This record gives sequence, structure tokens and C-alpha cells, in this order.
Amino acid sequence: MSGDEANPFESLQEQIDDAAAYLDVADDVIDRLKHPERVLELNLSVDMDDGTLGRFKAFRSEFNGDRGPYKGGIRYHPGVTRDEVKALSGWMVYKCAVVDIPYGGGKGGIVVDPSDHSEAELERLTRSFAEELRPFIGEDKDIPAPDVNTGQREMNWIKDTYETLENTTEPGVVTGKSLEAGGSEGRVEATGRSTMLTAREAFDYLDMEMEGASVAVQGYGNAGHIAAYLIEDLGANIVAVSDSSGAVYAEDGLDARDVKQHKNETGSVSGYPHADEEFSNDDLLTLDVDLLVPAALENAIDGDLARDVQADVIVEAANGPLTPGADDVLTEADVHVFPDILANAGGVTVSYFEWVQNRQRFYWTEERVNDELERHIVSAFDDLTTCYEENDLPNFRTAAYVVAIQRVVDAFTDSGNWP
Ligand code: GLU
Repeated sequence: MSGDEANPFESLQEQIDDAAAYLDVADDVIDRLKHPERVLELNLSVDMDDGTLGRFKAFRSEFNGDRGPYKGGIRYHPGVTRDEVKALSGWMVYKCAVVDIPYGGGKGGIVVDPSDHSEAELERLTRSFAEELRPFIGEDKDIPAPDVNTGQREMNWIKDTYETLENTTEPGVVTGKSLEAGGSEGRVEATGRSTMLTAREAFDYLDMEMEGASVAVQGYGNAGHIAAYLIEDLGANIVAVSDSSGAVYAEDGLDARDVKQHKNETGSVSGYPHADEEFSNDDLLTLDVDLLVPAALENAIDGDLARDVQADVIVEAANGPLTPGADDVLTEADVHVFPDILANAGGVTVSYFEWVQNRQRFYWTEERVNDELERHIVSAFDDLTTCYEENDLPNFRTAAYVVAIQRVVDAFTDSGNWP
């Protein structure tokens, strides 16, 4: 879980080093790509409903802007740390480079459990953060988006605060907005859709059959549940899903949409009436399945747990769910891991389409969004597997970083270092 055990920032740096070994790039240039350019740390004072003053620690890390404006979500979670936000902002840089969209990477977070607060408190907190971020954000500077526990509601508040204070209309200052506030068709489903597309391409690449394949999904939030039902639509059997309350299992397959309905009604997947069994998240992660989709937080699988993993293929919907120790074990065991910076890149890719639509004031159909998304993910998948084969790389994560780092380095080299 976030904050525990492996430090995600160190994991990011290790992933960059692993790929750098296969790149002809000077050490000082690589070193530059391992640290954020700027990290803002705030203590927000917010009026609580009971008349007291709440204090909330908040961060925004702008990791690298060589390829375009900083881009990335804002997370609300009690486990948010400065190093976590730094890592997440770095992963955004390489994610945007893998799918070749013209952005750098950033990320924000507030240390807060939103379930402890009223909507009015969350609105004041979000607007307070937006006001502090105002000098740094903008459609050509740094563009926030949803992440864990944030969505259209928070993005609409950020847009409104920014536009009001700036006395302007600039919907592209933030993405992931509701349709009425200038959002894009297909944005809510986009992260899960890229996970499904990556899984589909991976099975094809590995000559595996998706029809009838067994699948376990850890995490049933925005990314997890949509990945589950889109993968189910390909003919696979979703045998287990989980959330923080635990996992539900059915040997013949669960109905992914029905489990979501149950979670909407009761608050969790636990107690789903058509399950054969309930067990823990760790039990789910070590099930003997064809495909495992971690879709919760960082560090879900560490080196120890990785030794018990029985899945043939892992497609990462979460950011950073495997520690570098887990990667080593799984590479050794020939488990094929398709990394987060490809498999969840659909979110930021459709954010890019939203930003393009905002700037042109011309809005696309859902079909066009989904077609363009598929084109980006399939083409990134092909770039990654080509790089994997041509360089005889140990795993697909290293291939993704080799492709991504080279693109960032090329942008940096072409512009030069100044001042
Ligand atoms: N939070 C998402 C991610 O981690 C989306 C970011 C965005 O749309 O900018 O990729």
C-alpha cells in the first residue's frame, strides 16, 4: 500500500537505471531524468463545517517538461507522501512519452481521506488547492486531472476556481471534467480501456486465447472495474475481484457489471451474493489465473509475494503496483508483465484528446475518441515489443522505459540546456 515498504520514488529511479543500461545516453543526462524539476509543498487551511480550521498537507510535483506542459492527476488519500507524488509525477513523464503525446509529467496529492469529509469541506479544500496552484497551472504550463479518489466533481471545481480568478475561459487548464464543463466522451472509461487493449494485444502477442481466459482484478475503482467489464466483453472469465474490503471469487466467472452494482449499493465488493468464496487481497494476487490486473495502489506485490504469484500475464492498471524486487522475481519466473506506463496510459491519452477538443472548441464523438485511443495504445504496444525484441531486453517494463527515455532525451537534446 502507498507509503509502506518500497519507496516509490526509489522504485522509479531504479526503473530508469535498469533501462539506462541499454541506452547510449550519458550518465549526467540520465541523472537529470531521475529528479523532479520542481516540487511544491503546501499546508492548506480550510474551514471545517463545525467551525474549526483544518490543516491539510498538499503537494504538486513537476517532474519534467521537455516534451510539453507538465501533466498528471491529483490524488486524495491519507497515505499520500512527498516521495509518492514525486514518483507518480515521474511515471507520468515516461507514460506520456511511451504513448507519444506532447506532454511532460506532473502529479499532485492531498493527504486526506475524503470519506471523512462533507462535500462542502471537500469543495473548500479543492478550491484552496486550486488557488495555490494558480500561478503554476494553465493549459500550456501544468494540467491537472483526476487520480485516486478524485473525479469530474473536483476537476470542475479546479476549472471554475482558476477561470474565475484569472477572469478567463480556459477549459484546457484541467482534464477529466464532466461533459457539461468541457470534458471528453470516453474519458471516464479511458484508463480501463487501455488496460483491456494492452491485455488484448499481449494475449495476441503471446499466442494466448482471451476467450475463456481466467482473470483476477485487484482494486475495483475507476480503472479496475472498467478494465474488468471490458475484458469480460472479450470473452474472458473474471474469476475474482477485490477492493479494500477483500476479494470475491467465483470459479465460473463473476458478472463484472453486477459486482459493480453491488459495490455501488453496499460500498464494497464483499458480500456479493453470487460469489463462491471470499478471501484476502493477497490470496487474489496469488491465484492461478491466466491474467492478473493490479488496479489499486503502489507496492501491491513485493519480492516476497511475487514468489507465490501464479498468473501467466500481469497487466498493470494501477501506477507502480510491483516493486523492483517483484519485477526481478517475476522476470526470472517468466511471468510477462505489461507495465503501467503503457497499460493505464489511456487516461492521460484521452485527457490529451480532451485538451485538444477544449483548445479547438470542437468536440468529438465517443467513437472517434475510442478509435484514436486504440490507435495510440496499439502503436505504443508495437513500439515496445519491437524494442524488446531488437535489444533482447529482460522484460517489457525495461522496453517501455528504453522507448520513453530515448524520446525525452531527444527532446532535451534538440532544445539544449539553458540557462
Ligand atoms: N491520473 C491518471 C494517470 O495516472 C491520469 C492523468 C491525466 O489524465 O493527466 O495516468
